[in-house]
Amino acid sequence: MCSREILDKRLRNRWTVFLTRLSARKSFEPDPVSTGVGIGAFLDTCDRCAFFGSFGMYQNTSIEILAGQRLFSPEELRSTTVPVAGQDLPVRADVIIVGGGIIGLSIAWRLALLGQKVVVIEKARIGSGASLAATGMLAAAAEYEAGGEILIAFALESQRRWETFATELEQGSGMDLDFDKSGTLLVSLTRDETAHLRSRFEMQAKAGLSVQWLSGEAVRELEGGLRPSVNAGIFCPLDFQIDPRLLIPALEKAARGAGVAIIEEASVDSLVMQAGAVDGIISGKRECRAPLVIVTTGADAGRRSFLPQSLKIPIRPLRGQSICLRIPERHPPLLQHVIWTEQVHMAQKSGGRLIVGATVEEAGFNPDVTVGGLFALLEASRRALPALEDIALEAVWSGFRPTSQDDAPILGASGVPGLLLAVGHHRNGILLAPSTADALVAYALGQDIPHSAEPLNLQRFGSAS
Ligand SMILES: Cc1cc2nc3c(=O)[nH]c(=O)nc-3n(C[C@H](O)[C@H](O)[C@H](O)COP(=O)(O)OP(=O)(O)OC[C@H]3O[C@@H](n4cnc5c(N)ncnc54)[C@H](O)[C@@H]3O)c2cc1C
Repeated sequence: MCSREILDKRLRNRWTVFLTRLSARKSFEPDPVSTGVGIGAFLDTCDRCAFFGSFGMYQNTSIEILAGQRLFSPEELRSTTVPVAGQDLPVRADVIIVGGGIIGLSIAWRLALLGQKVVVIEKARIGSGASLAATGMLAAAAEYEAGGEILIAFALESQRRWETFATELEQGSGMDLDFDKSGTLLVSLTRDETAHLRSRFEMQAKAGLSVQWLSGEAVRELEGGLRPSVNAGIFCPLDFQIDPRLLIPALEKAARGAGVAIIEEASVDSLVMQAGAVDGIISGKRECRAPLVIVTTGADAGRRSFLPQSLKIPIRPLRGQSICLRIPERHPPLLQHVIWTEQVHMAQKSGGRLIVGATVEEAGFNPDVTVGGLFALLEASRRALPALEDIALEAVWSGFRPTSQDDAPILGASGVPGLLLAVGHHRNGILLAPSTADALVAYALGQDIPHSAEPLNLQRFGSAS
């Protein structure tokens, strides 16, 4: 059994983790009992029961991490948007978009390029919902699962659209997006995992997805850093990745450049109604009139809000916790592809960052980063990639996936004239942004709706207003 003393001693040479209550974030007060208890040390623990025995009481306790002298919090990580001068809410627009995440920004940008006068209203900061919490995988094949039939055509369409979308966005913003076309590799480390992987492969192949089965040896040739016991793999050559921390500022800049008015720290409180149709929004004491309002409020879409009481949008938050590791400058990248195991995904970004994600938890709107969540991520990532042992932990965060009953988004008519929906993108909002923007442009301008978007309506849940 490993005692607390041994764990504490091991820790001092590694990360220092202070367990705090999230509510006490403003005044940083380490809990004296837990100070010095380190995740890195715990991962050395040979006796897992001892680990949980001594750590279990901290499950659901929030964590903030001190790396050296610097404190990184989810808020800090998310405040990476381009600083801009405040903007007044216009009194009139063609389209108002409520919510400044990847979905709202993408629709706004595309509509503005077509000459529409667009306003985006964001209650906090641009991207501060789920969008900046995302890893940035564009994984239509890797994430395909049983029940995914309703979404797959739309997801593949969006995957195909991504490269052009990224090129146009780079041109529109003048920013580099770090669009990485190396592909995604799903790997198994045990015989049981290989059996699961094989059934996943058969399901993917049956759905006509671009996937290749690889032996353990072939996987190791592609990714030499993986644990030598790696058993088999599936290569998804078209599952690219992008970095949300570059993408969101670029979208913000391109949208502003195309004429979109972006109003931050302004919550939409109610709708202006005129003869039974939506005719604008009210935010605090300010009002903006427009014949069309698009709801892109992510996980908040299912909450009681500015929307008509009769409109029920079946969306719930599904918490995801992630961590960011910092690869030292002298170190070559640890990974050439996005790596998936049954428990975890790992995505190398430019600038030496490696994102490990993500937990999937029914935790309501509780934003805590928990010991249980972090332990699961650290253990699973080190198990696949032993070289992580000495890599520094830079940041931890959580976000709320906006999730519908069938994990597919809800696009188009709300049943209330003048009110459109683009919500419920679950774990695929980054992947689905180009196709969602195309579909909502079509809905907004009265054009033909792309075929693949048609099934993704609110009516499928029988809950239109
Ligand atoms: C840990 C994690 C990892 C993920 N990884 C990936 C990935 O690799 N690939 C992928 O494709 N997807 C991924 N996702 C999913 C993706 O992040 C989401 O699907 C996507 O960000 C949803 O975008 P959105 O614009 O709909 O919502 P959000 O980004 O949440 O934006 C909604 C915005 O609306 C604002 N808002 C709400 N109410 C109001 C109001 N009344 N007035 C004004 N503003 C309001 C909120 O403040 C918020 O900023 C991940 C999600 C998580 C949590």
